[in-house]
Amino acid sequence: MKFFNIDAEEYYEVEAQDIILAMPKRSLELLDQNNFFFNQDKNSKLQKNLDSVIAEPSYKILLGFTEPWWEKTLKAQAGESITDLPMRQCYYFGVDPKNSHSLFLASYNDMRTVSFWQALEEGKKFESKETQLVKAGNRNYPDYEHASELMVKEVLSQVRELHGASIEVPEPYTSGFKNWTDDPYGGGYHAWRDKYKVWEVMPYMRQPDKNEDIFILGEAYSDQQGWVEGALCVAEHIMREHYELECPEWLDKDYYLGW
Ligand SMILES: Cc1cc2nc3c(=O)[nH]c(=O)nc-3n(C[C@H](O)[C@H](O)[C@H](O)COP(=O)(O)OP(=O)(O)OC[C@H]3O[C@@H](n4cnc5c(N)ncnc54)[C@H](O)[C@@H]3O)c2cc1C
Repeated sequence: MKFFNIDAEEYYEVEAQDIILAMPKRSLELLDQNNFFFNQDKNSKLQKNLDSVIAEPSYKILLGFTEPWWEKTLKAQAGESITDLPMRQCYYFGVDPKNSHSLFLASYNDMRTVSFWQALEEGKKFESKETQLVKAGNRNYPDYEHASELMVKEVLSQVRELHGASIEVPEPYTSGFKNWTDDPYGGGYHAWRDKYKVWEVMPYMRQPDKNEDIFILGEAYSDQQGWVEGALCVAEHIMREHYELECPEWLDKDYYLGW
């Protein structure tokens, strides 16, 4: 197998007896398709079954505040609010006890609302403001993508509309967003397409070629799409079917793992 390490910009090769591809549909499609396993011309059954699920767009916008404004104004320590605005939901998250900086999930949206936010990704980035935590010259965290000024303005406007004029929502000091539709994920979770016999596709996808010890594992082709549980159930299935793992004592032996 040949790997490319993006950070090191290096190729390396490994030999393996078995291969477990623990990844969703879009990640599988991004692998080299011109080989004995994926070969589109020769193996149309795999290509057809890869396409048995739809990757559902999903999106998060995060804002950082110097104070948890929701504690004073809403008397809320945690929780969520929902709306039919494109932001759809917001979550009041944790407070750093050292400096009271607080995390707010300003929008957690999916499906049709994702295109609304995607349109606001480009343009000038919202610049993090200096606080106790964020010092001058260190205002951009490299680990996540900052939201644009436009996105922050729009999501704040919706958060303010949701809470009403009596609740003062201050300006944030930092922002970030994650579009789970971007590669290599393709979506935040998956759903079965119609006209597929899921009871046939699920076992097929676990080992598409019975002559090759190449296994596909994850939430995408599971019976609990949208949940970590789905990925764990497929992993458990493969471990029992091919690696002689026994059902652990703490798990009901009839626990449903999918087809
Ligand atoms: C916003 C959001 C909220 C969610 N909330 C919940 C929740 O509250 N509860 C819950 O149970 N589930 C939740 N889920 C669903 C849960 O995250 C997924 O079901 C779960 O992560 C699927 O696991 P997986 O192993 O199938 O795939 P993934 O978690 O996507 O893992 C695949 C991994 O493969 C890696 N990868 C891809 N291509 C390559 C490659 N070429 N080489 C090396 N590595 C590669 C990816 O980087 C990734 O780390 C949520 C999902 C999203 C997007």
